[in-house]
Amino acid sequence: MQPLSALRRIVDGGKDAGASLKMPFFSSASSGSAVVDNTSARRSLAGYLNRRVRIRHNVSVPLTVLIMVPLLALFLLWQFFFASAPQSKIPNFFSHNKIPPLRAINETVDAPFVVGCLEPDTSQPRANAVLVILARNKELDGILDSMHSLERHFNRWYHYPYVFLNDGEFNSTFRESVRNATESLVEFGRIPLDLWDFPSWADPEEVAESIALQGDAAIMYGGMESYHRMCRFYSGKFFKHPLLAKYDWYWRVEPDVKYFCDLTYDPFVYMQQHNKVYGFTIIIKELIDTVPNLFRYASGFMRSHNITSKGMWEVFLENEMVDQGVTTTAETKTQSVEDEYVIPEPEEIDPEAMNGEKYNLCHFWSNFEIASLNFFRSKEYEEFFEFLDRSGGFWHERWGDAPVHSLAAGVFLAPEQVHYFRDIGYRHTTIQHCPGNAPMKQLPRTPYITDPFNRKAIEDDRYWDSWDAERENGVGCRCKCDTDIRDIEGKSGSCLPYWVEAVGGWTSP
Ligand code: GDP
Ligand code: MN
Repeated sequence: MQPLSALRRIVDGGKDAGASLKMPFFSSASSGSAVVDNTSARRSLAGYLNRRVRIRHNVSVPLTVLIMVPLLALFLLWQFFFASAPQSKIPNFFSHNKIPPLRAINETVDAPFVVGCLEPDTSQPRANAVLVILARNKELDGILDSMHSLERHFNRWYHYPYVFLNDGEFNSTFRESVRNATESLVEFGRIPLDLWDFPSWADPEEVAESIALQGDAAIMYGGMESYHRMCRFYSGKFFKHPLLAKYDWYWRVEPDVKYFCDLTYDPFVYMQQHNKVYGFTIIIKELIDTVPNLFRYASGFMRSHNITSKGMWEVFLENEMVDQGVTTTAETKTQSVEDEYVIPEPEEIDPEAMNGEKYNLCHFWSNFEIASLNFFRSKEYEEFFEFLDRSGGFWHERWGDAPVHSLAAGVFLAPEQVHYFRDIGYRHTTIQHCPGNAPMKQLPRTPYITDPFNRKAIEDDRYWDSWDAERENGVGCRCKCDTDIRDIEGKSGSCLPYWVEAVGGWTSP
């Protein structure tokens, strides 16, 4: 049987081919005009393909369309599910060339230590570094999630030790579960009261009243004394804990954080080699009501100590030009505690003489930090913290450790000493940074299955076995980011433009 005539029979609804080939749904819309030119196969094929086929009683389409639609659907499905896989070499519609490029940042002052993936080189000596987690027993689940994420994406290769700190005692469940979550050394430390308590000269009644007022004013965490203590501890005390004394570097980890990319190099070693002091992944705006007077004290400290900016101070100064790409997400609805409680002013601070400078509320989001412990232990930082502490702002206001660390970086550091870990994909609560995968710089991964008899562990690893498409100017390695929220880099509330300004600007539109 000639294929063409078979086709014709189908198209013609089996008009000349017997009932066995009748199509129940398709019938020729113009069966009366069907003429087959047997003298030219090509012409006749074209003729047949152009024939209109009735698909419903009043709808007809050319046969070509009828054949092409399912083929096209199959092609798109194939493109979507197979050719778009990041590892695929097949060109396709859904790949990276459709994702808008990441904006490139001038790299003369600070650049990613590594772009894309390396084969982790664990033969080199480690830095004198530690992963630091302040937590309570009730946060165990969140802690384990954070640890699993950190182990999977980094510490499975480098085995850095952990130090867990708590103002209370960690119970045995906590200790045991945490020990089981890593092969690294784990130490648990109780925070001595002198590092956790407000200073002895602070009037406890005044402290309590002030904190209660902030609670009434609905300042975020303002009414929680424990939160005030936590912020003060991270601002000026954590690095004095005896368990951290032997270390030079730390990476701060919190419960319920998630890493999206593999970190296939040792960030501590690179920090050291590049003379960096402080590293961040996210820089955003602070809630004004938590820090109404912090900037005045930081600025007052700078002036009273004759310190001039080395280039980081400007990252924290309001600047209309830079701000055009930045709008605050800070909720300014809550009433300032300043209206209700008059903060005692140290003599040397003239609130009006701020050199015309205004705090832009930007701060490095300190729930992730890779930094030098020695910076915080320095005499200069100690003086800075003492100066702030004397003002009572850690209880009269709700100064966070993030703006305190950030303004310290502003006072003491040069942009060269700060590092943007743009390649670290990271999420904490509803804010995330996703670096995009570096084009042509991805490498196959080795599986990481913590328990081969555990189905969840196997499924988990399968999830990470494919990763997002490559992205122009992307710097990440095997990143697979959550898709329910957008990257903070491009959102209002991000202060990245201030950082970028300090390091030489954007180098792509
Ligand atoms: P947020 O990220 O600003 O919402 O604050 P978190 O509640 O995550 O607290 C920051 C870090 O401090 C987390 O690692 C908490 O586990 C820890 N933390 C907060 N308050 C306390 C406290 O009273 N005691 C202890 N031991 N840890 C605390
Ligand atoms: Mn947190």
